[in-house]
Amino acid sequence: MSVLIATHDLCWLHDPGPGHPERPDRLSAVKQGFLDSGVRDSIEWIEAGKADRAALEAVHPAAVLDELEERCRRAPLAIDPDTRVSVESARAAIRAAGAGLDLIAQLDNSRADVGWSLVRPPGHHALPTRQMGFCLINNIAVAARFLANRGERVAIVDIDAHHGNGTQEIFYGDPSVLFVSLHQHPWYPFTGELEEVGSGEGRGFTVNVPLPAGATGLAYRLAFDDVVLPVVSRFRPTWLLISAGFDGHRSDPLSQLELTSGDYADLVGQLLPMVAPARRLVFLEGGYDLAALVNCGAATMAVSADHVNRPESASTGGPGAEMVEAARRIHLDGGCGDL
Ligand SMILES: [Zn+2]
Repeated sequence: MSVLIATHDLCWLHDPGPGHPERPDRLSAVKQGFLDSGVRDSIEWIEAGKADRAALEAVHPAAVLDELEERCRRAPLAIDPDTRVSVESARAAIRAAGAGLDLIAQLDNSRADVGWSLVRPPGHHALPTRQMGFCLINNIAVAARFLANRGERVAIVDIDAHHGNGTQEIFYGDPSVLFVSLHQHPWYPFTGELEEVGSGEGRGFTVNVPLPAGATGLAYRLAFDDVVLPVVSRFRPTWLLISAGFDGHRSDPLSQLELTSGDYADLVGQLLPMVAPARRLVFLEGGYDLAALVNCGAATMAVSADHVNRPESASTGGPGAEMVEAARRIHLDGGCGDL
């Protein structure tokens, strides 16, 4: 298996300010993990271009994009207490969104089996009209919208520790995009409850598996076996997009989940075969412990190239089985009918 990685130097220049956890060293750590993964011969790199403005406007209104650029001209500036911009932030965000679109173009030409978007700022909290949670432009949503608009059936699986509220909102009424999220709950951004299942024609195409603090790879494996893999399989996606946040790692300061890099390798390794080669994209979202990012980068890059590199073994024990069973009842037994 071959992997094409898209990134850009501007992604290192977005600076939310001193002491902020979403810092440029995160990208360097994941990149180091990629280089340590033992699959260098299977990896190619490309420089991300600017996202096409029309593709951005398919997710975020033009006025919101203009305002983001204007705010960066007045930077440093806090959009909210978590989300701050520097002068290069909008340009970085436009490259971060462009990475996914460029990977689609390359995979359309069968250049690689898997595309990996190594970018920041992250995207999955960004709402159509509001930046939040360290996110400015919703990178994975821009790619998913582009694919759905040409008739693809897109499955998004979000394994960041936090609920991908922005992605969920963008596709909440849309049956052409399946959104599945596993996340700590209750926890920032305090959405992603079991009962959030989509609306209108999109009902049943949003699947949330909220997990309690302390959940390990055991709950995730159960959720994959009983909920995630069955609903993705039933959806028959033509493309699979993964929001890969590594902040569920047991060392991460921004969640109380107890995952290891071995667990992340298992999760990504189970998801990728759900669709054909060259129809698979992975997007970096969160992850704030540098050593954990190195290990998670190495483990998930290795499995993306169909190799094994497990700096840490899988975790086990802990809570969460009841929530998985509740999600299974809603989405596989009940068809959301009893909500
Ligand atoms: Zn996160």
